[in-house]
Amino acid sequence: MKQIVNKWLKIVQYFLGFCFSLPCFCELCLQPSRRDFALCQSCESTLPWLGESCQRCAIKMTNSNKLCAQCLNFPPPFERLTALFNYAWPVSGFIAHLKYAGKLHFAKMLGSLMAKHLSCQYPIDCVIAMPLHPKKQRQRGFNQTIEIAKWIAKMQKRPLNNWHCTKITDTQAQAKLSAADRGKNLSAKAFYISPNFVAKHVLVIEDVVTTGATIHAFATALKNHGVSTVEVWCVCRTSLV
Ligand SMILES: [Zn+2]
Ligand SMILES: [Zn+2]
Repeated sequence: MKQIVNKWLKIVQYFLGFCFSLPCFCELCLQPSRRDFALCQSCESTLPWLGESCQRCAIKMTNSNKLCAQCLNFPPPFERLTALFNYAWPVSGFIAHLKYAGKLHFAKMLGSLMAKHLSCQYPIDCVIAMPLHPKKQRQRGFNQTIEIAKWIAKMQKRPLNNWHCTKITDTQAQAKLSAADRGKNLSAKAFYISPNFVAKHVLVIEDVVTTGATIHAFATALKNHGVSTVEVWCVCRTSLV
């Protein structure tokens, strides 16, 4: 019962925030942010921006090459993955507040920053948030990437399509697995794409990419379905652990 009440409170809170421009305060310095999300311009400049990275998979690079060795030897199934930040404080905290405490205003902040700083190579037909398994989505009450993708779709003026793609394999939490096991844990069969889904160029939104196993599997499923180009925007890119 408590869970249902909390869920409705979140929905009402989100709806009010979406419909009315309530004054926003910066999450870092607590001063008015002077824009419609909770981060001021001055604190924005202090965030852990990604910097030099592979132009195909966004892995951090220490040399001036455009592509990492992995992308040169084994090109990934997506055309380009771009990320905004390293997985570091305070952005890691923003994601944790969104994901585990249901503080949905962080989705607006992160989505707005992505739409402001990232761009697409192709004229995209639709935006897709990385699907969560329905069981996990029910437990959490929402899919955090849908919440982020909503704002990106709105700012890109493109439809958000999240009813044709489903995660059908309830894989173990990727973070608990070793890098080698993460690869084995997921294949394109983990996703179901409805035959009614028709799109040539898609933009997929993800919160954190580490090994890239999940996005590899989902991009492969989209390509197998007939999608021509898959671009990926993620909030944070981490190195292999
Ligand atoms: Zn601030
Ligand atoms: Zn790469």
